[in-house]
Amino acid sequence: MTYDIIIVGAGIFGLSTAYELARRGRRVLAIDRFGSGHPATSSTGASRSIRIAYDHPFYVDLALEAIDSWHRLESETGRKILHLTGQIDIGPQGKLEDLARIVRSAGAAIESVDSAEVHRLFPEIVLATGEVALFQRQAGTVLADAGMAALLLAAQRAGVTYLAPMRVTRIEMGETVVKVHTEGRRFEAAQVVVAAGPWAKELLGEAGLNLPLAPAVAQVTFLDAPLLVDRPGIAEWRPNGETGIYGHPVPGIGYKIAFDAGAEGWQPDVEEWQPDLIEEKRILNWLTRRMPSVAPKVSRTQRHPWTMTPDVDFIVDRHGPIIVACGCSGHAFKFGPALGRFVADIVEGGSAPDLTRLDRMGLKQVASASAPITR
Ligand SMILES: Cc1cc2nc3c(=O)[nH]c(=O)nc-3n(C[C@H](O)[C@H](O)[C@H](O)COP(=O)(O)OP(=O)(O)OC[C@H]3O[C@@H](n4cnc5c(N)ncnc54)[C@H](O)[C@@H]3O)c2cc1C
Repeated sequence: MTYDIIIVGAGIFGLSTAYELARRGRRVLAIDRFGSGHPATSSTGASRSIRIAYDHPFYVDLALEAIDSWHRLESETGRKILHLTGQIDIGPQGKLEDLARIVRSAGAAIESVDSAEVHRLFPEIVLATGEVALFQRQAGTVLADAGMAALLLAAQRAGVTYLAPMRVTRIEMGETVVKVHTEGRRFEAAQVVVAAGPWAKELLGEAGLNLPLAPAVAQVTFLDAPLLVDRPGIAEWRPNGETGIYGHPVPGIGYKIAFDAGAEGWQPDVEEWQPDLIEEKRILNWLTRRMPSVAPKVSRTQRHPWTMTPDVDFIVDRHGPIIVACGCSGHAFKFGPALGRFVADIVEGGSAPDLTRLDRMGLKQVASASAPITR
């Protein structure tokens, strides 16, 4: 069989793109080294935060589209993927003003809330004197495992050929086609999407494209707190450069909390990372301050990889017949099928917006594994 497009890596970037291109009638082959959602990859685990509040309109529009497209996927597959309970954002006034302004200019709703309203929405949260907050209703939790399983089902139903586990060893530019080599096989297509997450730097480097990517391993802690499963998510933004915190409810478990920074450098080919108990303790200390009535009972703490760019924006752009879709910077999962639509448009000849281009100024610096997610 010949393919129009080969997708290398079937995490959230690659799988959603494969699905979208197959929906558009393209012959798509998706190859994944470990398999979609494997614990060694970024798109793994029970849950991810979803929110529409971003300080750039690109992400607000994509998040609004994502909510609709996750709902559409729920209908198509009969799986529950979104658990939308809203989100409370706490942080410096300037940051909250930027978030509110950009969300409202996209025609979406976000409210300023005082401490009495925060108490009504999330009785366990305590605001310090003078702290201000926002509440966005279109936010909460994506059930990540369920979302990945639904995307794979829908992609295969739409005609995607999915080969996993299978490792791409080399991408070679031919005269008229791109050759994708695996251990023992070779495939060809007119275009190749490289969506290899933390492995993208190495794979693209071998194909002659050196990108400032810093793969890192970040930690999340799940609280055994059934009372919190219908509470809103939370984001506690800090001034740029300081570590913030985010969390969201997880049905069947309770609540998940994590730092948005401080990830450690990633080593390839580790399949599961041991939890850092010092970081877990820092999360529980934060909980004691922010939600003093919640028992600090840990269900589990896990570590997963992500891939930072210098400016924490994604890299989605064309390089000849190769479309790069990586540099998730710790915040891509929520966009799900909308991300696939976005990458597919570029595969089909659309131009990348300045924010995600390969030649943008933001990529001229060095990426840091431990940098905070300021978007
Ligand atoms: C701890 C943590 C918390 C997060 N929280 C949130 C959140 O709350 N909200 C949010 O929106 N996002 C969140 N994210 C970010 C989100 O999970 C990532 O942005 C997203 O999963 C990145 O997906 P990806 O497709 O780029 O990478 P991956 O999911 O890693 O996909 C890359 C795929 O490529 C495959 N691959 C690699 N090399 C090869 C090869 N040579 N041949 C074939 N296949 C290959 C891999 O097997 C893998 O499946 C979080 C991430 C982490 C780690």
